[in-house]
Amino acid sequence: MRRYLVAGNWKMNTTKESGAQLAQALVAEVPADNPAVEVLVCPPFPYLTTIGEIVNGSGVGFGAQNCYHEGPGAYTGETATEMLTDVGCRSVILGHSERRHILKETDADINLKVKKALASGLQVILCVGELQSEREAEQTEAVLNTQMTGGLDGVEASAFDQIVIAYEPVWAIGTGLTATPDQAEAAHLYLRHWLKEQYSAEVADGTRILYGGSVKPDNAQELLSQENVDGALVGGASLKAELFVPIIQAAA
Ligand code: PGA
Repeated sequence: MRRYLVAGNWKMNTTKESGAQLAQALVAEVPADNPAVEVLVCPPFPYLTTIGEIVNGSGVGFGAQNCYHEGPGAYTGETATEMLTDVGCRSVILGHSERRHILKETDADINLKVKKALASGLQVILCVGELQSEREAEQTEAVLNTQMTGGLDGVEASAFDQIVIAYEPVWAIGTGLTATPDQAEAAHLYLRHWLKEQYSAEVADGTRILYGGSVKPDNAQELLSQENVDGALVGGASLKAELFVPIIQAAA
């Protein structure tokens, strides 16, 4: 009953031209109406309009990688959710580990952004995940609990038709290390139970939980076949159509 979502996080990559070529290749290969899989690309801010025009009317949606928690105004260098919806963005990735660990975003910062993005009608992909040291210290569930509690503070059950959770173990992002299907499934199951406890069985059953961290064509099938894995958030492999398309097909 949960529709798969395969989202490409381009991070701070591509040029205007290479991004456009990538988007064109995806539009050509992704069916315009695929009831089994939702497909999304998240380009860098300067290219959102260009990519949005290319994917418009296709089976590929587009989203942003961040937003600000205030409306338009005197916030130099920031991007308002109103601007994202204005250019046709459907979604926004929030709480990505690179923003948590490099840009030092806290759960409280992320929570403000989550609430602002929801109020603007954006789909929020909220990323959570533990560091290697936290996994070794058997703190994975405690970390996920803290990030979910902090990130979703004050968010009502009724907002969950706009919320997707992405489990991204930090040690697996861009490293070539992937969580085993069992490790991913265990974390996803924990997150689904968390949603059931904190919200309801309905929210838990209906919310998509994506896996992210070195998803590639050769591991996608096994990860996506886990009962509680509802899609993938793909970094490196989303930058090449010949890698991203087979991942989409693995979900279909
Ligand atoms: P990766 O990145 O696929 O390159 O590991 C995933 C992510 O950061 O979302």
